[in-house]
Amino acid sequence: MIEPELIARLSTGRRIVTLERSLRTANEENRRLSITDPLTGAYNRRYLTEQLPREIERAARYGRQLATVMCDVDHFKRINDTQGHMVGDDVLRWFFTQLQNAVRSSDWVARYGGEEFLVVLPETNVANATVAAEHLRTQVAASPFPGVPGGLVVTASFGVAGWQSNVPQGSTFDALVALCDEGVYASKAAGRNCVTARPLD
Ligand code: GH3
Ligand code: MG
Ligand code: MG
Repeated sequence: MIEPELIARLSTGRRIVTLERSLRTANEENRRLSITDPLTGAYNRRYLTEQLPREIERAARYGRQLATVMCDVDHFKRINDTQGHMVGDDVLRWFFTQLQNAVRSSDWVARYGGEEFLVVLPETNVANATVAAEHLRTQVAASPFPGVPGGLVVTASFGVAGWQSNVPQGSTFDALVALCDEGVYASKAAGRNCVTARPLD
């Protein structure tokens, strides 16, 4: 092959490799954005409804434990009403950071909706998830939100659900989340800033 033709072919090859690389980077970024809550940076509801059923299935197949904790900010509407929505948004970002910093690296946090987040704890039973939730509760209550003068004490109510022993076959996302909700509801009724557990077995 004559030299100019070889050079031209090499240059085309190089261009294709560069294009492929940037396409891969763009795809990865799109995937990241599609599973991330834009306000807080937590996993979004889409990721949760995709991934939690998989965690349940895997735990059931291999006879493992699994628990989830629903975390609902107390009187959040009052925070919006007295401090404004922008501060409310900051409180949500801060709240997510508090959760993220307090959980283990194998646990993950998704924004379930408004001021509600769900922590997923693989390989964890309800008793240990309750200890983790109590740790989250005290952490949040003991560190005032720094975004307003003098700091703002923010608390949250928690509902824990999961399996004390192995996850049985056929366990569902809906059952788990409904029990977490029940737990949150009971925590609110008990005066807020507390943890209620609802084991599935
Ligand atoms: P409780 O202690 O019973 O949980 O009371 P609450 O006020 O926290 O609960 P409620 O469901 O009455 O209010 C939740 C509020 O959260 C109402 C809604 O406007 C607000 N909210 C939902 N999403 C966002 C958001 O992205 N940003 C802000 N700033 N507020 C939000
Ligand atoms: Mg709520
Ligand atoms: Mg609330």
